[in-house]
Amino acid sequence: MPVILSPDEASALNARFDRVDPAVVLAWAAERFMPRLAATSSFQTQSVPLLHLIGQVCPHVPVLFLDTGYHFPETLAFRDELVARLGLTVQVVRPDAERAAAWHESLYRRDPDLCCYVHKVLPMQRALRDLDAWISGIRRDQTPKRAGAQVVELLPQGEVKINPLASWTREDVWHYIHRHNLPAHPLLAQGYLSIGCAPCTVPAFGGDERAGRWAGTGKTECGLHTDALYRPPGLDGERGT
Ligand code: SF4
Repeated sequence: MPVILSPDEASALNARFDRVDPAVVLAWAAERFMPRLAATSSFQTQSVPLLHLIGQVCPHVPVLFLDTGYHFPETLAFRDELVARLGLTVQVVRPDAERAAAWHESLYRRDPDLCCYVHKVLPMQRALRDLDAWISGIRRDQTPKRAGAQVVELLPQGEVKINPLASWTREDVWHYIHRHNLPAHPLLAQGYLSIGCAPCTVPAFGGDERAGRWAGTGKTECGLHTDALYRPPGLDGERGT
């Protein structure tokens, strides 16, 4: 794979972009990487500011939504509402049907890491395979594992991950939502702070923003945002190494 961004350029960009308006970062990303660029989103409350900014700055950038088949119906309805309201270009990414069916039965209970790998990591790897860069909404204040997130990150395979909201706090998210009169995910009112697949999400009162995900298991990430992607024996990633 050709070098898309050198480590020196990434460092210079991080010095320039940290704590700047995310709209500036999005405009740079769209100019630099389109059409080999996409954003990813789980369409929950904390996703709303970035989706709104994409709609304002670069609505032609596709937003990938990973449909594992386990989402709350409220999430799918909220996605459709936001896509229509913000003028987004959404692309639904699904797991390979055969592979998912082979592992489907209650896999999330028996082996949630493998379940996330089959239903999330592999299909997203496939979707990102022909891109040079992707935009994510992760923030440093969400969990200790995300505390080191940079605005511009070079991934092991050479592609670029862009986190325009890396320096934002939960308060920044809410300030933005209120300032622009944007909606929240309907399940937030029932205590769901972070919302993923229904079998692995519970209401959480207190704790960090992702406290209700895989509660009681010690698992905090699905693998999409971690460097060391979980690769069970015999299920190699589709990008190869
Ligand atoms: S969040 Fe749960 S149901 Fe969804 S892919 Fe991961 S383990 Fe499976």
